[in-house]
Amino acid sequence: MTGVTVRVPAKLNLQLAVGPPRADGYHDLVTVFHAVSLFDQVTVEPAARDGVTVTGEGADRVPADQDNLALRAIAALRAEVPDQGTGGVHVTIAKRIPVAAGLAGGSADAAAALIACNELWAAGLTQSRLAAIGATVGSDVAFALLGGTAVGRGRGEQLTPALAPATQYHWVLAFADGQLSTPAVYAALDRLRAARPADPGSGAGAGAEPDLDAALMSALRSGDAARVGQRLSNDLQPAAVSLFPALRKTLTAGLELGALGALVAGSGPTCVFLAANAERALELAVSLSGAGVCRSVARVSGPVPGAAVVSAG
Ligand code: ATP
Repeated sequence: MTGVTVRVPAKLNLQLAVGPPRADGYHDLVTVFHAVSLFDQVTVEPAARDGVTVTGEGADRVPADQDNLALRAIAALRAEVPDQGTGGVHVTIAKRIPVAAGLAGGSADAAAALIACNELWAAGLTQSRLAAIGATVGSDVAFALLGGTAVGRGRGEQLTPALAPATQYHWVLAFADGQLSTPAVYAALDRLRAARPADPGSGAGAGAEPDLDAALMSALRSGDAARVGQRLSNDLQPAAVSLFPALRKTLTAGLELGALGALVAGSGPTCVFLAANAERALELAVSLSGAGVCRSVARVSGPVPGAAVVSAG
């Protein structure tokens, strides 16, 4: 085989409930992942030694060496599949998922690299085995393999697919002029909670074990976008807004322009808006870009499947 190309989606968190910091510094999460139609494309080809080329959205901010999450995933896979030959692989990543935007683009590329090498090497590992390997590289890799809508626990890697009707949701993403580091946002959340432990504005359920939002799950089962919009929640949002105050204006603008719900994507700084249908999403995207409250906008829909081979030859 000369090469395998995999397409992999970005994720949103429709709920992100964050527990207190654990002894190892990580936080237990309960999250509702949702894969959307914004894709990176990852091609893996046999080569003399491992290497990576990154093109597209934010490519200059992605490491082009062994620190790239795609190459780290391949190294982890190789340790499990020692008999795939002695050569390396060259990975080409075409990015459309913005970097450090809260959309798990790095984890997506790691997931895509696992699927591509599994195919290239005819290794025959199951998705759950790949997910276990991926979880050693990033907490969102397992979901990028699975796709759809799913509840994530632990650090987000313990997944249960959500039973939901075939409703497609229409989202508008507002990309910010800037980035947020995920560890910095978690640190800001811990500081906010330490300063105001009883203040629900510092993150719902502050200090308590995180809980799945039953009303959100019921809204998803009903397929009613208006109900889903009302239940979107993200404990990291106050922390992200404290580090990036312009996000408040973006969120308010989207709601005033008719979004059914709004929230910060993961650790931000992308803002996410739910629209009633495709037409409303188009209107919202046009109005948001005209309002000058973000760098650019994208319309996406979800749920979509996880990482999948699009060509192999
Ligand atoms: P997280 O998944 O931690 O919530 P995020 O979604 O906000 O993060 P990513 O786009 O995954 O952001 O990037 C996080 C960091 O990972 C960036 O600083 C980037 O340099 C690094 N990184 C390593 N490999 C990749 C990759 N293949 N694509 C994007 N970022 C990568």
